[in-house]
Amino acid sequence: MRKTKIICTLGPATQEPDVLRQLIQKGADVFRLNMSHADHGSVREIVPRIRALAEEARRSVGVLLDTQGPAIRTGDLETDLQLKQDDILELTVAGAQSEEPYSVNVNYDGLVDDVSVGDNILVDNGMIRLAVLEKRGGRIRTRVITPGRLGSRRHINLPGVHVNLPPLTEKDLADISLGAELGADFVALSFVRQKSDLDELRGVLVDNRSNALIIAKIEDQLAVRAIGDMIEGADVIMIARGDLGIECPMEELPIIQRRIVKSCLRLGKPVIVATQMLESMITNPLPTRAEITDVANAVFEQADAIMLSGETSLGRYPVECVRVLNRVAVRIERSGGAGYAESAILGDNRQKTVASAVLLANSLANSKIIVFTRRGAMAHNVSKLRPENTPIFAFTSSEEVYRQLSIYWGVYPVKIDFTDDPNATIEAAERFLRRTKLTAPGDQLVIIGDVRAGEERIDSVQLRTAK
Ligand code: PEP
Repeated sequence: MRKTKIICTLGPATQEPDVLRQLIQKGADVFRLNMSHADHGSVREIVPRIRALAEEARRSVGVLLDTQGPAIRTGDLETDLQLKQDDILELTVAGAQSEEPYSVNVNYDGLVDDVSVGDNILVDNGMIRLAVLEKRGGRIRTRVITPGRLGSRRHINLPGVHVNLPPLTEKDLADISLGAELGADFVALSFVRQKSDLDELRGVLVDNRSNALIIAKIEDQLAVRAIGDMIEGADVIMIARGDLGIECPMEELPIIQRRIVKSCLRLGKPVIVATQMLESMITNPLPTRAEITDVANAVFEQADAIMLSGETSLGRYPVECVRVLNRVAVRIERSGGAGYAESAILGDNRQKTVASAVLLANSLANSKIIVFTRRGAMAHNVSKLRPENTPIFAFTSSEEVYRQLSIYWGVYPVKIDFTDDPNATIEAAERFLRRTKLTAPGDQLVIIGDVRAGEERIDSVQLRTAK
């Protein structure tokens, strides 16, 4: 049973029910809707489709709505521009008109003030590099330094520049309200710069009556510097290596990744390693050896989840990509992890109770952890400690929690009804595990739940032998 969760970004390559079904079968745990590209019509169609297919497969599958955030983007182009070295490309803002053969408008009026003559502007993941020659009104005249094909709505990076856009744009607010309406399980905030950005999103989710978990996408130097605040303010952290690798010196990226994963494991916050994990598989049926090693590294570090972007949104081999991640993750997990969770901070008595249960499970052969969780907190407490060689079967009565547990390392979510008698609920869970062959007779079941003590319910750890 794989412990590292797999997130797949959806797009034109993965709209059809048959492809989605195969992705779920091969192990996709969460589907990401990238609102920089997805339109509301397709989101309305795809979310119920995901729900129906997850139900059909009897699997917990989460939906992640990823906001565009305060990102600078080029606008729509009728046809892609094939830019050659030394071509002139004009970037226009605020409705300015260009007379150059090559021009594109940009969604951020402040760009003219933020860049100076001689600066470099990076477009489309740094694939195209432009040098600023001149600024005139709403027009920025640039020379192409690194040529490439410019498509519509490409991202612009200005490393080190504090972009003067609000944390949530009008578009983000409309997208979040759609996500709330459709019951998105996670909302990711792009280019989060400070904790108050996350607080603002939490307020918007409350206003929209959404309990979605908040994912902070760490994608620039400001967010890296404020990582402690980010971990405190978010429910999940995403190391968004695409932008991070442009916004920071590239050789810093592995160091930043390791530092963030370590901090998240110490503070018990789920963490996602994202972007370019199998980039070559957008066009090739097999990954490179370096990609396999990169995936293995994230699994070894015991990140909660690894994420596919272009590989599954527009690549030629989306299902094969999930199969590769699954294979590599299962193998690497068997060889052991980095053990960063050994320095996890145990905050309260509930976490300490869970720690004693994990210690017990680790000391037994053929152990299985079973946890009953109403709001997901106890399952999260177990996952945080990265128990060795034992799955975490998390039983919940809440549909919402069932789906949100899809992102936590090692957690196998199961939805059941809780009865008033905790013992009857435990027996129902044991029957389920026996029937589905998830436990075998003689397995040592470490059960974390609660028992009645008079009127009170108290946390308990029990050891039972599976029948
Ligand atoms: C990234 O930059 O790595 C990322 C996940 O963000 P996006 O795909 O939204 O640019």
